[in-house]
Amino acid sequence: MAAREALGATAFDLLVIGGGVIGAATAAHAARAGLTVALVEKGDFGSGTSSASSKLVHGGLRYLRLGDVRLVREAHHERRTLAGSVAPHLVHRLPFLLPLYREGPFRPAFVQSGILLYSTLARSRLNWLVQPARAAELVPPLRRDGLRSCALYADAWTNDARLCLENVLAAAEAGATVVNRAEVVSLRLSGGRVAGAEVRLDGEVVDVAARVTINAAGPWVDEIRRLEDPRAGTSVRRSKGAHVLVPDGRGWTAALTIPQDDVRVTFAVPWYGLLLLGTTDTPYDGDPSAVSADEADVVQILGEAAKALPAELLDRCAVRASFAGLRVLPLGDGETADARRETVFSIGPGGMLSVAGGKLTTYRRIALDALARVRGPLGLRRVDRRPFALPGARGPAPAFDVELDPDVEAHLRHLYGSRAAAVARLAAPEPSLRERLHPDGPDIAAQAAFAIAEEWAETSDDVLRRRTTVALRGLADASAVGRVEGVLAGL
Ligand code: FAD
Repeated sequence: MAAREALGATAFDLLVIGGGVIGAATAAHAARAGLTVALVEKGDFGSGTSSASSKLVHGGLRYLRLGDVRLVREAHHERRTLAGSVAPHLVHRLPFLLPLYREGPFRPAFVQSGILLYSTLARSRLNWLVQPARAAELVPPLRRDGLRSCALYADAWTNDARLCLENVLAAAEAGATVVNRAEVVSLRLSGGRVAGAEVRLDGEVVDVAARVTINAAGPWVDEIRRLEDPRAGTSVRRSKGAHVLVPDGRGWTAALTIPQDDVRVTFAVPWYGLLLLGTTDTPYDGDPSAVSADEADVVQILGEAAKALPAELLDRCAVRASFAGLRVLPLGDGETADARRETVFSIGPGGMLSVAGGKLTTYRRIALDALARVRGPLGLRRVDRRPFALPGARGPAPAFDVELDPDVEAHLRHLYGSRAAAVARLAAPEPSLRERLHPDGPDIAAQAAFAIAEEWAETSDDVLRRRTTVALRGLADASAVGRVEGVLAGL
């Protein structure tokens, strides 16, 4: 039965609201435990926060500064697990340099002891101070005037949207009914208990019956809580974080962590040959769907990066793309930049579990903790916390039966892991599918066809922004959009 029909025709054990990384991983773990699961996402999978992060799988140096040793230890453990077995094709180790300028907020000895603790928690041996000349070998354009030394440590980078999507795939493979463009508009109540939801789908409202409901709606968490209890107050606060991408990440073999004050940092991360710069941290009370990077964000990010990078790299006209997302933080009075990045769990009067906040890095742990909290009502004896390989991490390395340029092959291996051969196979009989979506990037038309056939993509934005890297490279011009629309139309 197609997923859309199954949604209204099945009595589910579990309904998960929200197809970000937390909802997707929760659905995947639950389905693997043998439960009948529905995952509904109002937009595209990963279209919320899970495609708007700094794309780091990291312990989080600044959380150490905030005294959150437990979070850092857990995050490092998850980083090793993701890079080691869960998604090694998508999570890659990257050295980081933290430049220490004379006018900067930290003294080298203080930072060195912090890095030593961080690297001990990371079980990494990369934890020393390097001289400016060595630092400039790793990051050629690093500003060297006033630079005393740089702390060196290791974390990892990823493609957040694809990591989220692989969790949706894992859920579907394990038997979950996963549907995007399916918006929860109200909850079904039976004897005061939440018993599923009414979901708007293709212009109709479908009744989805479920014994247990988990609200993983990220920045929309309180909107869903109020469907259960209109008097429910506010459980979290939101803070906007924007990023920009500029050219010139080539030649960098490390990222930069640029201190702004004694807590906030700006990252400059080499990402697909570009530089990903960010992020801002500003309280946000507006409609989560309307969040975007505005001119003030862009100016702030470029200005903050200029503490360690030359002005010619950071020209406003050089910006290829920008995006913004919302952090979900526990309630509190202080600055959002100082707020702990903890996950907020709550159970409503009708028994719905809400889960929001935390980190992309620790998504697995958050999803497992959410399931553990509803283990009783789900009738699960135990929650299996062992990591499993995501679909692209299973099976042998892909062998391509069609000739592709080396950069395209490498890109497909990274984005799809062992599934890359299936993407290339689509291109074998059809030369037009071997063509690049934009001449300056490695994404090819077969990826658009694959996204539509195998990955629930329905619009050009789904393909260009979240299934491929075209939009964030600043290459989603009229011709690239036209090519994808042609594939969508079956041309
Ligand atoms: P989301 O991805 O927002 O998913 C919630 C989903 O619910 C959305 O897709 C939404 O459309 C859907 N939804 C809402 N309402 C409904 C409804 N009525 N019906 C159906 N669906 C609905 N973490 C790291 O580890 N590393 C980083 O580098 C990092 N950088 C970050 C930078 C920024 C600026 C921000 C904001 C966060 C960052 N994070 C990072 C944190 C990380 O991105 C988040 O913890 C994670 O993506 C949260 O995922 P989620 O599934 O909870 O939320």
